Amino acid sequence: MLEKILKDYESFREEIVREGYLIGAGLKEEPEYEKIFSKYAYLFDLKTIGDVIKEKNQLPEDAPSEDFEAYDRIIFTLLEGYISGRLASLYTEMQKVELSREIDGIPFRMINNILEREENREKRRNLSEKAKPIIEELTQHKLKIAREALNIARKEFGYPNLLSYWSASLMEDVVGYSRRMEEFLKRTEEEYRDLAGEIFEGYLGLRLGEVENFDIPFLMSGVKFSDFRVDDPLGILKKTLNFMGLNLDELKNLHIDHEFRPKKSPRAFCAPIRVPDEVVVVVKPSGSFSDISVLFHEMGHALHFSNTAKDLPAVYRLMGRSGTSEIFAFNFQYIADSEGWVREFFGKNGEFLRYRRFAYLYLRRRYAAKVIYETKLFSGDNWEDIGPNLYSEILTSATGVFHPPYNYFWDLDFGFYSVDYSQAWEAEENLREYLKHEFGDDWYFNGQSGEFLKELWRTGLKFPPLKLISKLRF
Ligand SMILES: [Zn+2]
Repeated sequence: MLEKILKDYESFREEIVREGYLIGAGLKEEPEYEKIFSKYAYLFDLKTIGDVIKEKNQLPEDAPSEDFEAYDRIIFTLLEGYISGRLASLYTEMQKVELSREIDGIPFRMINNILEREENREKRRNLSEKAKPIIEELTQHKLKIAREALNIARKEFGYPNLLSYWSASLMEDVVGYSRRMEEFLKRTEEEYRDLAGEIFEGYLGLRLGEVENFDIPFLMSGVKFSDFRVDDPLGILKKTLNFMGLNLDELKNLHIDHEFRPKKSPRAFCAPIRVPDEVVVVVKPSGSFSDISVLFHEMGHALHFSNTAKDLPAVYRLMGRSGTSEIFAFNFQYIADSEGWVREFFGKNGEFLRYRRFAYLYLRRRYAAKVIYETKLFSGDNWEDIGPNLYSEILTSATGVFHPPYNYFWDLDFGFYSVDYSQAWEAEENLREYLKHEFGDDWYFNGQSGEFLKELWRTGLKFPPLKLISKLRF
């Protein structure tokens, strides 16, 4: 029975990811997720899940812990599918609103792209104020989805709140990890304050405490480095891979979709449609250096999935923590923030590296704050009462950037994606140290490094982020 479930799940997943790819790439207008769900409905009904639980309970007590864990991955994946199926129509409703709203003729989803280019602060503020009612409207939809998810988790799965359900499904002690994030914030406080003060002053002419969330897309787009033109991101990518001893043209299962299409999502993504046989990276280059950062990040995902061992059991190819793949995405992304690489491709410079260090720390601290905030928020169910102030206080204090209370529910991903990201950063830090130790400070110029990474990529999603660290002792 389990074999059939895994086989059908693989087909289901393939159809869902392909649908997401077609929509995101601008090749299809109306998503048909519900149709795909109903085709595979049996996978996610409580009877099937109950059968898997029964099978797990028949494992001999002294069976390897890996076996128990593999069953749990299947069970939580199916439960997630069950919840998604139940929430699909609510999600569709919310998506319709999100896609149809406009501000001064600009699609709501494009607002960040506009903010990235807007040098006039008052115009940025104005645009962001006009986005507020749309975010408030979307928040109502998102709250409805969360309420329904909580209902199911409580009444049907027996979890008291979303914190306990999502922790179980991640197989992580999220509360413990949240404490670790408080430590992280303390540890990096001084370096961050210094850097942020310098960057805010130099780039925005503002002091710490004056910067607001609508300034961030502009700051992060690095307009100060507009002379770092990147006219051929793919050429740079291929050259970098060659340095590492990897040849992109040999990877027939990896396709980069960089054509311009008006309906293409402005946000780049990787669609691992069949792992490892069919992986697509979708990008929409704009010409700025951030194209490289984004392309390298998504390529990290793509190299991981397209190099996953074909004979790895489906559980380890498809049912794991998204944080595992993020490790490799970050690892690849930060090559383009490394001193030797920047010198080689841009010919400079210390100022740029400091700016990128700030961007790195800003994101890590923002996500650490999200872990802390979401842990508190989802331990109860009075989200609308405590959310706005809690969010604004925790995120503003961690970043030195004002995060307005009304963003408290729109600015979060369900299922503690913040934990996945944070653990991936932690693991990537270790991986990078390891790579430097083995292959030198400019490890990405060492022709052996690609082969080493390939061995790690082969393991697919087998190891959760923090477990992967323990494989990298030196
Ligand atoms: Zn990613």
